Amino acid sequence: IPYVPASTRYDEIPYRHCGTSGLQLPVIALGLWHNFGDDRPFQTQRDIVRRAFDRGIFHFDLANNYGPPAGSAEENFGRILAKDLAPFRHEIIISTKAGWNMWDGPHGFGGSRKYLLTSLDESLQRLGTDHVDIFYHHRPDPDTPVEESMLALHHAVTSGKALYAGISSYSAEATKEAAAIMRDLGTPLAIHQPSYSMLNRWIEEGTPSLLEAAQEEGMGVIGFSAMAQGMLTDKYLGGIPDDSRLASGKVNKDFFTDEALGHVRALNDIAAERGQSLAQMAVAWVLRDQGASLTTALIGASSTSQIDEAVGAAQNLTFTPAELAAIDEHAVD
Ligand code: NDP
Repeated sequence: IPYVPASTRYDEIPYRHCGTSGLQLPVIALGLWHNFGDDRPFQTQRDIVRRAFDRGIFHFDLANNYGPPAGSAEENFGRILAKDLAPFRHEIIISTKAGWNMWDGPHGFGGSRKYLLTSLDESLQRLGTDHVDIFYHHRPDPDTPVEESMLALHHAVTSGKALYAGISSYSAEATKEAAAIMRDLGTPLAIHQPSYSMLNRWIEEGTPSLLEAAQEEGMGVIGFSAMAQGMLTDKYLGGIPDDSRLASGKVNKDFFTDEALGHVRALNDIAAERGQSLAQMAVAWVLRDQGASLTTALIGASSTSQIDEAVGAAQNLTFTPAELAAIDEHAVD
């Protein structure tokens, strides 16, 4: 039976302009870093992606190296696209990236033109699409001139293989430098993808902060690991479940200290007072109005129910000053 998406899919969550561009993104995006490799049942992956699209999450975030093995998340998403989502390709935002290790030798990582453009071609083959909507440089590379990496992004867009260009994990200063180069080339950088959650607030720090720098440059910001890889949910409050990312050794256990768990418990109580789960408050907090607000909270999910729970966050995206002050006491790096 052909897949028919929910007709209510654009009524579920708000969309925000990505910086000053015409691109509008749902406030929640689904990332395929974990749970979409060949180590997971294809049908579960398919159910999660379809549920996300049904609930208004039309932005799917990938990278060349997502799996395991590297490349398999793009292949699996490509299969879901071919089976279910191809008729809706024009509605969907697919992003991919290159920057971290992908293949052997000096051009299998970093920021060279050789790596970025070769990798993009390979990503398109795995995804089975002739363009991605956003192509990112995945991380700054101190060993490659930033001009070269930006020229590669510019070429990706002018060749039609990507519609928008982005950068990930660049500092505020490096972001301003990259944005100036891209503006001169005529392909403005549309988006920045940094990590951001109640337990990781680096993008708020410094003058200008990354958030401010992105706003000054007209870029949108999509914050990744909004739930701190599952720490900002009720998942670990009673121990480490067998089916969790932490149990499977994919997260560094040093991160899960007693002190951190104490803060998580306190945040869980604040969420309950707001009538939200902690996962929902984690998403809502990332999206809160703080002068320069983010475009999107980028989450992961290992089940359809986690998608449903995240979408529920959109019911309450506002915080009172008292709630924010209470959260600040526990939202510490
Ligand atoms: P999150 O912080 O949202 O963590 C997702 C994990 O949290 C899920 O896999 C699940 O863990 C757990 N979780 C989610 N919802 C619930 C819930 N309702 N109840 C209990 N547990 C829940 O995001 P990720 O760390 O997965 O990152 C999201 C995306 O960000 C990635 O897929 C990727 O696209 C992007 N990213 C980008 C990076 C970059 O360098 N640019 C780096 C890292 C991520 P479990 O699987 O154990 O059930």
